[in-house]
Amino acid sequence: MGTENHIGTIFNIQRFAIHDGPGIRTTVFFKGCQLRCWWCHNPESHKTLPEKIDGCNLRRGFDQTFTLNKDDVGKEFTIDELIYEILKDRIFYDESSGGVTFSGGEPLMQSEFLCELLNECKSTGIHTTVDTSGFVSSKIIKVAAINTDLFLYDLKIMSDDLHQKYTGVSNQLILKNLIELDQLNKKIILRIPIVPELTDTNENLFAIRGFVSYLKNVIEVDLLPYHRAGEGKYIKYGKENKMKETESPDVQHLENIKQFFSELNCKIKIGG
Ligand code: SF4
Repeated sequence: MGTENHIGTIFNIQRFAIHDGPGIRTTVFFKGCQLRCWWCHNPESHKTLPEKIDGCNLRRGFDQTFTLNKDDVGKEFTIDELIYEILKDRIFYDESSGGVTFSGGEPLMQSEFLCELLNECKSTGIHTTVDTSGFVSSKIIKVAAINTDLFLYDLKIMSDDLHQKYTGVSNQLILKNLIELDQLNKKIILRIPIVPELTDTNENLFAIRGFVSYLKNVIEVDLLPYHRAGEGKYIKYGKENKMKETESPDVQHLENIKQFFSELNCKIKIGG
């Protein structure tokens, strides 16, 4: 294929994904993230390099042809190897207006590898989506945007102090990049984690709605209710789970939030 010799570290590949953008998709999960959100249900994604974790069985999404040792999380791929995997389901993308989604972790942390992949996908006519926290240099996200059809963009907490407290980083760059993507007319689906008492406060939801009302290219807002699915991973990794007393929000409460956001001029959805 004549690609550059970039190598990327991937911790999962999920086929037939239907919640990560339009149609049927293959979602590729990149390892590495600079945030440490309290509610993260993919703590195995945080470190960029492959790692060994005792007793880990988190690679079920990988195609059977990949052989990983029982305790490995993450595998290195060349561009050609990953494109080969992505193209296997091409017929389903074509029939469902689907494509490929690059998620993580934070896919833009491996930006050269990601940009090369995006370029290859676009040159073969595959719809591309990038799922990002937005915490990346403006220069990098703009380069990635050239071959990205759709962004899934997290918007978590508008107070910078609280954002730093609950994710470990400032939100200033994240908000700046979101505004710039909007100005570039990139299509954006915003993803708001609904986490009791952290993101789900009247003050925060009001601030998010006000901010989003000025954006022109947000086609959908997804409300992602906190769930406890990641709990077992924290136990397995011996990591502190700061959310272990927290319950998922109830259905009626989520409907109320959906109603609250319905003033925005776009689709509002509960779930991804
Ligand atoms: S940005 Fe996503 S992957 Fe990174 S810590 Fe937060 S929830 Fe986890």
